[in-house]
Amino acid sequence: MKKNIAIIGAGAYASYAASVIYDVHPEWNVHIFEVGDKKIKTQDEIGFTSKIINNRYDALTKGRYFGFGGATAKWGGQILTFSKNDFIDPDRYLSEIIELNEKYRNNIFKKIGIENNVSEMILDNGMYAKVGVWLDYFHRNLFYLFGVDKYKNVTLHPYCRVTKILYNGTKVEGFQYIENSEYKIASNYDFFFLSAGAFESTRIMMVSGLQSLTKVEFSDHIAKKIFKIKGTTKIGKVDMQFKIKKFSFITTRIIGEKDGVSYFGYPSFNSEFPLFQNLKKLLFNHHFSLGLVGAIIKDLPNAVRFVWNYFIKHKLYVYKNEWYLVLHMENPRGHGNVFLADELDKFRQPGLAISFSISEKSEAIFNSVTKMFDKMLTDDKIEHYLIDEAVHTEKFEDEYHPFGLYSDFDSVEDYFNQFDNMLVVHSGVLPRAGGINSTSAVFPLLEEFIRYYM
Ligand SMILES: Cc1cc2nc3c(=O)[nH]c(=O)nc-3n(C[C@H](O)[C@H](O)[C@H](O)COP(=O)(O)OP(=O)(O)OC[C@H]3O[C@@H](n4cnc5c(N)ncnc54)[C@H](O)[C@@H]3O)c2cc1C
Repeated sequence: MKKNIAIIGAGAYASYAASVIYDVHPEWNVHIFEVGDKKIKTQDEIGFTSKIINNRYDALTKGRYFGFGGATAKWGGQILTFSKNDFIDPDRYLSEIIELNEKYRNNIFKKIGIENNVSEMILDNGMYAKVGVWLDYFHRNLFYLFGVDKYKNVTLHPYCRVTKILYNGTKVEGFQYIENSEYKIASNYDFFFLSAGAFESTRIMMVSGLQSLTKVEFSDHIAKKIFKIKGTTKIGKVDMQFKIKKFSFITTRIIGEKDGVSYFGYPSFNSEFPLFQNLKKLLFNHHFSLGLVGAIIKDLPNAVRFVWNYFIKHKLYVYKNEWYLVLHMENPRGHGNVFLADELDKFRQPGLAISFSISEKSEAIFNSVTKMFDKMLTDDKIEHYLIDEAVHTEKFEDEYHPFGLYSDFDSVEDYFNQFDNMLVVHSGVLPRAGGINSTSAVFPLLEEFIRYYM
């Protein structure tokens, strides 16, 4: 049967949903309602508002992007999925998410156009190594990577800020949105995807009376550099050096779980490579001086090594063979909350307030996992130096994986059946982020739902 589908938002999950619908039901009409347009805007530029309460969790102020592609226009673009190695004792809902991740893993890598069939390697100490794909800079925006703008069954509705879901107790009848400062109602759709980002979707659910009006819990990864490593990119059998495939990086990380909390050790390469820093100053900060040009020329031998490694050896050159090991970890749930704020945004909608703190348990786990990595490096006789950095919630590069906002489900079936004719989809439907950049771990839920539940 031909269906009319409305998708709210045009970011990662909206793009993935449109793409699967196009694959399996190209005859369905898909209407995408998006607050922005082609030009990607920050929270302030689009006119949304959020307040940080007593912490430095800046995912809303600095990590939200609006327009076609949403945050994927600016994200790191790391694509990874869960396997049975990821969690020691997952509940039924999480176990089923893992099964779906294993079922649809190849579809995801096929869609992004880069194969990843490297098996995970279990290490002697119980940790394991997982390989991911880090999409190249020019192919990160999933809206354009999947070609959503070119699907014949898709109609785009830019400049539409969705404000409320209209639910009559049994069915979603439509939604309210603002276009050109006018309130409008969208109805006549058979099915709705609410995919306006983890925090904005939650805000819409709250003001629509579909999630708690007072506060919604969430958590995210936290991180800190733990060691500077010299002389090798290998830790035991695991080589952390990035390989290059079709201009994208093939990355490796070491993952583990302690006391119900997932963590991963991940390399930070070339943060002190003068060529990168100088080019950045020249290209992005437009800082031009003869000294800067001189410094770039002086560093040319390293530039040649970089290019040689990239194009001939298909590996990322590691400046001076020195790098940082960064430890990322799930902050246990119970230390983050989202509230509706009193302050109204440019659209006269209530903004959000966020509280987030790092638990004492996190600090203790950080210390104990740091010791485990220290032992691995020492046993391997690798030159390494402890870095004295505070655990932080400020994010960079490939971060922001909010989880646990809308995830208290008994099973995947329970999640799918929350509404007869709407699926709420964002990274917060995951109860855990595990040791991965977790956006892609939700794509399999969309695959299964669109193929078998719609
Ligand atoms: C700097 C950074 C790096 C990251 N790196 C990685 C990474 O390497 N790997 C990874 O897995 N994850 C990464 N993430 C997280 C990833 O970007 C998000 O998990 C993912 O984009 C979430 O998809 P989404 O569809 O929920 O939201 P988004 O992709 O943000 O899309 C939401 C869309 O909804 C639109 N919208 C919002 N509100 C409304 C409204 N009221 N009405 C209509 N439209 C609306 C927005 O304009 C946007 O287009 C990163 C995030 C950031 C910020």
